[in-house]
Amino acid sequence: MPRENPLATPPTRPLVPLRQVTDPHLRIGVQPSDAETDTATVLSWAQALKAEQANVLGFPGSLDFDFTRLAPLLGVLANNVGDPSAADASAIHAKAYEQAVTDFVARTAGTDPDDLYGYVTTGGSEGILFGLSTARHTLPRAPIYASDQAHYAVGKAARILGMDLITVASRPDGTMDPEDLAIKLLTQLLITPRKGQHPGAIILATIGTTMQGAYDDVTALKAVASKSGAVYVHADAALGGFIAAHAPSRPRWSFPHGADSVSVSGHKLLGMPVPCGIVLARRELVPDASSAEYVKASDRTLGCSRSGLAAVLMWSALRQLGHAGMRERVLNCLNTAAYATQKLSEAGANPTRPTDSAVVCFDRPDPATVDRWHLACEGDRAHIVTVAHVDRAAIDALCTDLAHQKRP
Ligand SMILES: *Cc1c(COP(=O)(O)O)cnc(C)c1O
Repeated sequence: MPRENPLATPPTRPLVPLRQVTDPHLRIGVQPSDAETDTATVLSWAQALKAEQANVLGFPGSLDFDFTRLAPLLGVLANNVGDPSAADASAIHAKAYEQAVTDFVARTAGTDPDDLYGYVTTGGSEGILFGLSTARHTLPRAPIYASDQAHYAVGKAARILGMDLITVASRPDGTMDPEDLAIKLLTQLLITPRKGQHPGAIILATIGTTMQGAYDDVTALKAVASKSGAVYVHADAALGGFIAAHAPSRPRWSFPHGADSVSVSGHKLLGMPVPCGIVLARRELVPDASSAEYVKASDRTLGCSRSGLAAVLMWSALRQLGHAGMRERVLNCLNTAAYATQKLSEAGANPTRPTDSAVVCFDRPDPATVDRWHLACEGDRAHIVTVAHVDRAAIDALCTDLAHQKRP
């Protein structure tokens, strides 16, 4: 099966005009609407969404959360303008919670929070953009090296930043191939105009690849790249960071293993009702802040106004777990993945699963099964991600469907 390269410039698709995508029942008109009817509409939509979520097996968001006890948070604005550590003119923020979250994630990533800068992002993609912009500041002439299994957000960030992106082949298990990396680095050296002076390398390591859930080896890739000059490593650990931190096989994924910045998503393994994430970078590599007199806050973030709500919700979830609870959560997810691998094998679906991964790939079933279980597919393979709400009963039901599916 030829692999799609998510880093290639995507084909353009015509944009649908705005008007065509508006559901007429939801259109906001000239006159005020009836609030009670609207509330009923939204709540019944949310109820249907909730009911369907038990069947979502193919995507990386844990859906076992319930923050309704914190509903009064919807009655306040917490706007984290600029750096988490900076005071700002408005002083209506949740930065203390944000700092507690980044502190926790820094320790999860195996390092002293004092050595890092970090903040709560809108998600994994913003974390990649921040990591790569820090990398560009550190090594201005270096291209980005990412595998053909990297998330498409990497290609998007490279285009936004105007950086060169070199695609490295992956091995059958989904990890970046260090031998192909060495070849790509050498090729780059030969075509560099300044003879013998390598521009350096920015390695984008993926910690839990999107389709196969494989962990790139940060230490090994950095060792290969270091032979030809300065190296910066960003670890895109959107789904896999929290897992790798507690996985028995101890993947080499983070700061102690050679990463210079790390990004994780909050709405994936942890589970959040709003998309969010955390990005961390070595403090000395992050360029100086811009600051406007008007907000009176230093600001190294990519946003300006940022979600205090996301910070408080992540704080609440992480505080309920602690590092011990997070470990248990991860080990449960890995146990479910092992169970799914066994059941899918018994069902003849040819499962594959990298060591300590929550992602299990198997033969793509018929479209009805794909739809019923919200499976993610690529070519002739499908996958499930055994995040926290995925239980053994759902795996069993999926396997029953596989046994009864209509073969084309
Ligand atoms: C989900 C994911 C992203 C994108 O993260 P968002 O939080 O959706 O922006 C990036 N990289 C990997 C490996 C992912 O799994």
